[in-house]
Amino acid sequence: MAPVAPQAHCAVTQGNCGIPSQLIEEATVKQLLEQAAHRATAYLDQLPTRRVAPTGEAIAALAGLAIPLPEEPQPAEATLRLLDELGSPATTATASGRYFGFVTGGSLPVTLASNWLATAWDQNSAHFGPAPATATLEQVALGWLLEVLQLPAGSAAAFATGATMANFSALAAARHAVLARAGWDVEADGLIGAPPVTVVLSEEVHPTVLKGLGLLGFGRKRVLRMPVDGQGRVLPDALPRLDGPAIVCLQAGNVNTGAFDPVAELIAAAHAQGAWVHVDGAFGLWARASDSLRTLTAGTEHADSWATDAHKWLNVPYDSGIAFVREGAALRAAMAVTADYLPQEGPQRNPSDYTPELSRRARGVDVWAALHTLGRRGVAALVEQCCAHARRFARELREAGAEILNDVVLNQVLVRFGDADATRRVVAAIQAEGTCWAGITVWQGHTAMRISVSSWATTDEDVTRSLEAMRRVMREVRG
Ligand SMILES: *Cc1c(COP(=O)(O)O)cnc(C)c1O
Repeated sequence: MAPVAPQAHCAVTQGNCGIPSQLIEEATVKQLLEQAAHRATAYLDQLPTRRVAPTGEAIAALAGLAIPLPEEPQPAEATLRLLDELGSPATTATASGRYFGFVTGGSLPVTLASNWLATAWDQNSAHFGPAPATATLEQVALGWLLEVLQLPAGSAAAFATGATMANFSALAAARHAVLARAGWDVEADGLIGAPPVTVVLSEEVHPTVLKGLGLLGFGRKRVLRMPVDGQGRVLPDALPRLDGPAIVCLQAGNVNTGAFDPVAELIAAAHAQGAWVHVDGAFGLWARASDSLRTLTAGTEHADSWATDAHKWLNVPYDSGIAFVREGAALRAAMAVTADYLPQEGPQRNPSDYTPELSRRARGVDVWAALHTLGRRGVAALVEQCCAHARRFARELREAGAEILNDVVLNQVLVRFGDADATRRVVAAIQAEGTCWAGITVWQGHTAMRISVSSWATTDEDVTRSLEAMRRVMREVRG
């Protein structure tokens, strides 16, 4: 079939209720994308020299975006200019190699680019039929992820917004399975009148897992808690006696310490009592990509479901989390929608049969692009490099007189600069100084700075500069 002539395209727009023609004309699309690329590269180019936290003035200038809704169409170029001129300076430079907040990595260059391309494709990745390219990429990415993370081949997956929704999705599959075994169809009949389900969690469970349990009708508080040790690991004999349908949630990678629950023992004990075991490995699951770190997660592959984030340690753009479920039928039972107008799963996998959403963006594209570009060895190197930087932070900050609160087994470092008040003052001064950014936390009663090294972009030089800034600030604040 001949391509549609541009004139035909424009002819449609002539009588198009005043939609500005520059939204549609192909030349302008090209110009706009080139301008966006130019502005984006200029933004990225200044990351090595700009401060990580935005200035107060830049944040105040955001008022320029909070303007009355324009009555008339505006030139698209002016829209882009305003976004860049006011938005860019008020961002936190999380794409910089000196951002150590939360567990957020910056996007790998290829994933930023693949994300733009996939946005141009504009596929609604709900079904294979209308979106064969993105559905295929997602399926291939799923297979590669299972290989890289060494999880059971053939597991099903939900490509979701993040670990919050990945945990939710996996727990929805768990809810289906444990109740189906008790003869109850939870999707059809709900939880009212269902056999009670025991949910067992760590004292150190990530709060988003509790949110997921609330959304699923289990209740955020109607759970049993397992005690933890000084690193936040569930005690090996902490599992209570379980009776009837039960779900046990474990953790690979504590958000403060990076520590791993002793999953091998706990999974065996939970399975012996018929429970479903879910592992939240939002970032820690990536340790499985590395030969030298995998022992931290030994036995994790025996769980029933797992959640992880690609927007954390795989360094793809937001938003990108994945739930894996060994018994794919359980995930599908929890998530599939059926309607006469929707394509049913044929020989091809329909992505939306496994996700909470129907329409959504093509998350698998960035994951595919990251894994294709890094390869197995590149993923391992990315993870190992971040951990090496974390160990160096711990070593040099200890030498500088700070106290390191955790065993630095992964990419997380908890640093104390004296008491809570002194620590808060040093962290605030580090954030204000701007060379780098690290957050603050309270770990088992101790206020601490939390360094998380999660980005491909962090170089030795970034660590050197950040350590210099931290030492300088420590001296100044202590006087
Ligand atoms: C970040 C994180 C989450 C939540 O992930 P989002 O991608 O922010 O939804 C859950 N669990 C752990 C352990 C995390 O680190």
